[in-house]
Amino acid sequence: MTTCLYCGHNNSDNIDTCSECMAPLHYQKNGWSVSAKKKFTYFVIAVTIISFFMMFYLPR
Ligand SMILES: [Zn+2]
Repeated sequence: MTTCLYCGHNNSDNIDTCSECMAPLHYQKNGWSVSAKKKFTYFVIAVTIISFFMMFYLPR
């Protein structure tokens, strides 16, 4: 089962394009998934919060 990045439609693994919106599915077959994007977003948010903490709470 491969979930389309663009419309979220669940496609079978043996096709290259989404059966719902015809978008290519090769990005997910190379390991670039929606959850990886979410993890990267959380990482950026965490780094931003740590930077603000450093700015305001560390002695200058
Ligand atoms: Zn789609």
